[in-house]
Amino acid sequence: MSTINPSGWRPTTPSQGGESAEGTFTGNRALMLEEALIFEIGSADTTGVDFGEAPAGKSRLAGMERSKAIGLPGLSEPETVRHYTRLSRQNYAIDLGLFPLGSCTMKHNPRLNERMARLPGFADIHPLQPVDTVQGALEAIDQLAHWLITLTGMQAVAMSPKAGAHGELCGVLAIRAALDAKGETARRIMLVPESAHGTNPATAAFAGFAVEDIPATPEGRVDVAALKARLGPDIAGVMITNPNTCGLFEPDLKDISDAVHAAGGYVYCDGANFNAIVGRVRPGDLGVDAMHINLHKTFSTPHGGGGPGSGPVVLSAALAPYAPLPFVEKTADGYRLVEEENAEEHHAGTFGRMTAFHGQMGMFTRALTYILSHGADGLRQVAEDSVLNANYVLRSMEDVLDAPFAKSGPCMHEAIFSDKGLAEGFSTLDIAKGLIDESYHPMTVYFPLVVHGAMLVEPTETESKAALDQFIGAFRSVAARARNGEPALKSAPHFAPRRRLDETLAARKPVLAYKDAAPAEAAE
Ligand SMILES: *Cc1c(COP(=O)(O)O)cnc(C)c1O
Repeated sequence: MSTINPSGWRPTTPSQGGESAEGTFTGNRALMLEEALIFEIGSADTTGVDFGEAPAGKSRLAGMERSKAIGLPGLSEPETVRHYTRLSRQNYAIDLGLFPLGSCTMKHNPRLNERMARLPGFADIHPLQPVDTVQGALEAIDQLAHWLITLTGMQAVAMSPKAGAHGELCGVLAIRAALDAKGETARRIMLVPESAHGTNPATAAFAGFAVEDIPATPEGRVDVAALKARLGPDIAGVMITNPNTCGLFEPDLKDISDAVHAAGGYVYCDGANFNAIVGRVRPGDLGVDAMHINLHKTFSTPHGGGGPGSGPVVLSAALAPYAPLPFVEKTADGYRLVEEENAEEHHAGTFGRMTAFHGQMGMFTRALTYILSHGADGLRQVAEDSVLNANYVLRSMEDVLDAPFAKSGPCMHEAIFSDKGLAEGFSTLDIAKGLIDESYHPMTVYFPLVVHGAMLVEPTETESKAALDQFIGAFRSVAARARNGEPALKSAPHFAPRRRLDETLAARKPVLAYKDAAPAEAAE
């Protein structure tokens, strides 16, 4: 770490920026500001507020009160605003450009969503408010539930899970409750394809199941014969992503579901990739028993786009009785929340509760706004355009990057490439880092594991052809540099606020607390 002069400015060192930043007194590159840590520029006796001393009173903390100053660095109000605004400018956001992260569906977040989410009747309410004062909010939850059930062709929906992985847990706990209710406690193995998102096996294990892998075919789909061969009295069910993480539709899902049901198991579908099929395919028609929907993917507001996650889980008739509480119920006198207290009366099979209250109200409002403003035809077009855009990227890249499944036909909403054919010593990581210099957040890398050095690109439907062409131009240029073994690419990024970091060291030995003299190995 470089030295700090008393005014807080630090002189530039080559490690902090690209060559072009050398020579500026502040370390800045044009209007991109090099910002020190708040621990380096703040001080314990600076503050942006001016409160008088608290009146002396008798402490009620029984000796637990703080005995010395807390020592947090402070800044004045304008300095605070600038510090965090400068830091925020070193980040990438969907509002800045195309965000090709595969499996994440980083689409534009329509501003109408934000307008609706900020209406006081949605934004300024409290979960413990009397229900007769929040009838409109409950109606919005009920309407969204209706559309999610309609779009998926399922029987019921649990709205409370707060993200995709949380929804997986909800669905798998419902499967466990259904098995337990039938006395089938010997069914404790969950089958998960090799190409699954890491959250699937983690969820199954967390819910008390042993996980067994199902292999993929050379075409990147579930090996149906291997799956069927493994079915039996110890199998609780399968967790299948459709479209899968290779960006391909699983055409045999109905056949798989029938076989799993005949063998006494349940079918969990990871619905994170629903964007590719929304308005086109109803998972209920494919025999799915439970599926989470990432509202923050398919129904806009991606990570960093304005809201938190939300992962409602649609359920089949077989699993609906085990859904978690609370839920909204429409009665003759309006909407009510069915809470734990009436569990006996209303919902005897419930496995319990996923979260304290009824879920992410802000995300419900955004998703409902998105669904109502698109309409049935608009949602169908979302799926079609997202698939079209991904295929445009796939076909525009396949002469410079290996596309392992391109021969088996078009992809769904994401295009997958491998590191085959790169120059000796060059890897997927080099392409990802090179894209940062081109001002793009890298695509998803090294996932799914079934493709060597995988690069998974999901452009989404919200990118125009001009935006796609610009990205493809940058991606092609970086890929060509990796094929030709251009030495400078090995040390990219050159123009980012930080150069290539030792990510393994950062993950293995994270330095989570600021120390004045950082140990040499933890320094950048
Ligand atoms: C995003 C994703 C998840 C997890 O969703 P979170 O909301 O991040 O918890 C699970 N499976 C797949 C295939 C995903 O893309």
